[in-house]
Amino acid sequence: MIVGSGHAGAQGAESLRREGYAGRIVLIGAEPHLPYQRPPLSKKLLAGELTFERALIKSAAYYEQARIELRRGERVRAIECRQRRVTLESGATLVYDRLLLCPGSEARRLNVPGVDLGGVFYLRTIDEVESIRARCRPGARLVVVGGGYIGLEIAATCVKLGLDVTVLEMMDRVMNRVVAPEVSTFFAAEHSGHGVKLHCNTAVAAFEGDAEVRQVVCSDGRRFTADVVVIGVGIVAVTDVAAAAGITCDNGIVVDEYCRTSDPDVFAAGDCTDHPSRRYGRRVRLESVDNAFEQARSAAANMLGKSVVHDKVPWFWSDQFDLKLLIVGLSHGYDRCLLRGDPQTHSFSACYLREGELIALDAVNNPKDYMAARKLITERARPDLSRLPDVSVALRDCV
Ligand SMILES: Cc1cc2nc3c(=O)[nH]c(=O)nc-3n(C[C@H](O)[C@H](O)[C@H](O)COP(=O)(O)OP(=O)(O)OC[C@H]3O[C@@H](n4cnc5c(N)ncnc54)[C@H](O)[C@@H]3O)c2cc1C
Repeated sequence: MIVGSGHAGAQGAESLRREGYAGRIVLIGAEPHLPYQRPPLSKKLLAGELTFERALIKSAAYYEQARIELRRGERVRAIECRQRRVTLESGATLVYDRLLLCPGSEARRLNVPGVDLGGVFYLRTIDEVESIRARCRPGARLVVVGGGYIGLEIAATCVKLGLDVTVLEMMDRVMNRVVAPEVSTFFAAEHSGHGVKLHCNTAVAAFEGDAEVRQVVCSDGRRFTADVVVIGVGIVAVTDVAAAAGITCDNGIVVDEYCRTSDPDVFAAGDCTDHPSRRYGRRVRLESVDNAFEQARSAAANMLGKSVVHDKVPWFWSDQFDLKLLIVGLSHGYDRCLLRGDPQTHSFSACYLREGELIALDAVNNPKDYMAARKLITERARPDLSRLPDVSVALRDCV
């Protein structure tokens, strides 16, 4: 049984079949749709450049052929580990032999007055994208709260659609949590150049309006007029049902390198997990499609009695305007950042080092550096710092 039919849940079901499992697979998902890809939500789906059908992970026929019993629009309310039983919101109960938890994450809520007004949205599901799109007419004033990846992707998409876009970011720079100041500065300039009005050091204190939002009020008293607001202030792992079942949860559902939770019959994969990273020597919680797919593959094998360690160097991507940002590794704790190439050319990389070792790299329109860095970071390479900034030397030859 698999709970949650996002990237990890769908992959887990497919991997069980690929691993040769011939028994019953039940995939339970709270959303009413077939499993779909989330990254296009803030990109091509919001832009109207991709149909929902093209964003599906697999067609309906696939689940039928693979004998995966997909229970859409059903939410698991409780798990009783001792009885190996789940209860759905409808009251129905189902028993399992092995359980894979993939409930993902949900948008962090902004707890300020007026947040429930009409026209104030989060963006995590296709239904939310459709509601936002219904208001995306040219000239409409959109205020995006949060200058992280998702906020900036929404801003880039909507300014292209002809909306008047303002981004309010509480910190002193955009994507503060994940990239170096040099990279933030580059993306901020790109957004301004495309007409996005970006305000950092700006915290939202309230939304005002009658039934519909009209004004965004900031803690320093500034006001921004809005027809539509999208909040993108991070996510939180979904742990409610697991925690209530007595499964150990901390920053997420705690699993070991084999994707096992504190209950021997229950595994977990995807955004919801807090898992060990040997490469970084600490526990991590990742918000990435690649992690969801890879962890679900390992979990499926381990549910069938194999011993597959999940320990990949993570990678992420973000598309904004004509910029493809590829991030490999985790830069947290870096003591030096060196640029390869000139941001003015729209193709460069930021290399993050700790005690001489390459720990992460951000590649902007630079897939070559990204590919080389995946290998170097895995191998714990120590680049020659005098050669690293020289773009005439291939990254792999800097070691
Ligand atoms: C707008 C947006 C853009 C993104 N862009 C990128 C990107 O460019 N690159 C990238 O790598 N990542 C991106 N991500 C992140 C990526 O989508 C996630 O890392 C990925 O979806 C995680 O997969 P998951 O299966 O763990 O969780 P999810 O995809 O969140 O799926 C979890 C599912 O479980 C369901 N569920 C939860 N609780 C229950 C329950 N009790 N019973 C039944 N079902 C339940 C939920 O409804 C949901 O459908 C983006 C995310 C968003 C929202």
